[in-house]
Amino acid sequence: QAKEGGKDSYRLFTSEMNDNVHRRLRLEYHLVWALSRGEFSLVYQPLYNLNTNRISGAEALLRWNNDELGSVAPTEFIPIAEQSNLIYEIGKFVLDTAMNDFASLTNKEGDLLHLAVNISPQQVRQPQFVDDFTQIMEKHEFAAERLELEVTEGLLLSNQPNVKEMLNTLHDLGTELSMDDFGTGYSSLSYLLQFPFDALKIDREFVDGITDVELNEALATAVISMAQGLKIKTVAEGVETEEQLEMLKSKGCDLAQGYYLSRPLDIEGLKALLGDTQASPLGNTTIESSED
Ligand code: C2E
Ligand code: MG
Ligand code: MG
Ligand code: MG
Repeated sequence: QAKEGGKDSYRLFTSEMNDNVHRRLRLEYHLVWALSRGEFSLVYQPLYNLNTNRISGAEALLRWNNDELGSVAPTEFIPIAEQSNLIYEIGKFVLDTAMNDFASLTNKEGDLLHLAVNISPQQVRQPQFVDDFTQIMEKHEFAAERLELEVTEGLLLSNQPNVKEMLNTLHDLGTELSMDDFGTGYSSLSYLLQFPFDALKIDREFVDGITDVELNEALATAVISMAQGLKIKTVAEGVETEEQLEMLKSKGCDLAQGYYLSRPLDIEGLKALLGDTQASPLGNTTIESSED
């Protein structure tokens, strides 16, 4: 009997493995053509300055819609794009499209909006990355100071000598560097000291309260005061409630983004939000209806 059961679970396991392999191959196949077929688009999630209650920038987030697969989440396709080296060209598309969209975009007060872009390790490791990056900036006459590159700890872990050099070069251009998903890795703290980071983004795991509220508050307090000591800005991601926002404000967090403030919007939605003088700076405008 036991043997029978074992056999069944073995069969179940392999068929699940087959499904995963099959899905992956299908995604990889379609991903190869996605860029030339114009299947990628960008949405932008506003970043609110908590001192001024104004939108000071937005983070570009990639979307992929394919006829056969429908819309595929970035958490699913980006790792595949990274492993198959497609991310380099996709990453250039992201920079080019976002800088084009943001060229003369200002908030209600007339300040040019900052643009935050996620960068994969595989992009920065390419020797021509800085050249390609500056070329795209020049094409759009985009000031480096308006750009924030979000990198995760995974990039720094790679420990390749040119990564540090590359990040220093980008920083010297005037570009800001943010450590994304702070707190989820193993050595975030030591990397903050080794690399020229201007900001850290507190991962939404530590904001949106899967653990208890008191613990989150203690963590937020610790991270924010540490960052203040290092003269690094703090950005909270995944703010979903007014309570979370008030807590972060009271601790001195500099910037915040999250569904409570605004969902990611397409460029038209973002322009509408920026142009709408009636909208409260903390109002909810919903274009992307559901996520996660
Ligand atoms: P991330 O950089 O940490 O981006 C934040 C993610 O949290 C986004 O998911 C955003 O839609 C989501 N989010 C924002 N506010 C809330 C909230 O209040 N509640 C919840 N539950 N979620 C919220 P998204 O767009 O699915 O992107 C997932 C990840 O994919 C990003 O995480 C980033 O690591 C990666 N990614 C997205 N676009 C790009 C890109 O252009 N290039 C690269 N290399 N990676 C990208
Ligand atoms: Mg990010
Ligand atoms: Mg993040
Ligand atoms: Mg995150």
